[in-house]
Amino acid sequence: MAREPRAELREIIGEVRAYLEAQRELGLEYTDVKWPESPAPAPPPTMSEVREELGECTRCKLHRHRTQIVFGVGNPKARLVFVGEAPGADEDAQGEPFVGRAGQLLTKIIQAMGMQREDVYICNIIKCRPPNNRTPESDEILACSPFLLKQLQAIGPQFICALGGPATQTLLRTKEPISRLRGKFYDFHGIPLLPTYHTAFLLRNPHEKKTVWEDMKLLLREMERAGPNSGVGAARSDDRGAR
Ligand code: URA
Repeated sequence: MAREPRAELREIIGEVRAYLEAQRELGLEYTDVKWPESPAPAPPPTMSEVREELGECTRCKLHRHRTQIVFGVGNPKARLVFVGEAPGADEDAQGEPFVGRAGQLLTKIIQAMGMQREDVYICNIIKCRPPNNRTPESDEILACSPFLLKQLQAIGPQFICALGGPATQTLLRTKEPISRLRGKFYDFHGIPLLPTYHTAFLLRNPHEKKTVWEDMKLLLREMERAGPNSGVGAARSDDRGAR
């Protein structure tokens, strides 16, 4: 026999009331149901954190030949980062990128641009000297590039200048020759990247210095147009940099 709907409703209300009273006695006043929050994006690492994670790296075969890791140098909040190929003998000995003849030429270029080495950040696609300064091999680049990416994330620069074929081809994931790539801006994860010839190439081909200077003037014009505060992300203020 069908039950009388009001009687059934009264019964249900009674059961709900009894349930809620039992819950209240257990200390539950109300139910707080929250939509699960999506995780906040991780903050960029600091340069010191990247250096610490790299440690005394043995991730590729180059660690057997090096005197020391050449991590990077300069302003950890730089607007402009220069990325070269690999440490040479002078860099391996001193632990600082671009300090040999090619490095001295880079310093002159930076100064001609109205800046000092300390204003920019300078690093390489790999952090250990390859034997006889040979070109970095793909397994070495693969092992090292996560750290370069994290360095770039830590800095959050407005502009990147890639020096030479291997640096440009690694960052832009292309096999195009530097002669075709240079002098134009490309997008690197939202950061404008300008490839130009490597300063070691300029030492062998001094007539190309004017080409690089044209590229640097283009870079300066874009930096001026962008203004000082348009980087993709500011470096964390608790960071003092790392070498
Ligand atoms: N050449 C590079 O590419 N990097 C250095 O640090 C020095 C020379």
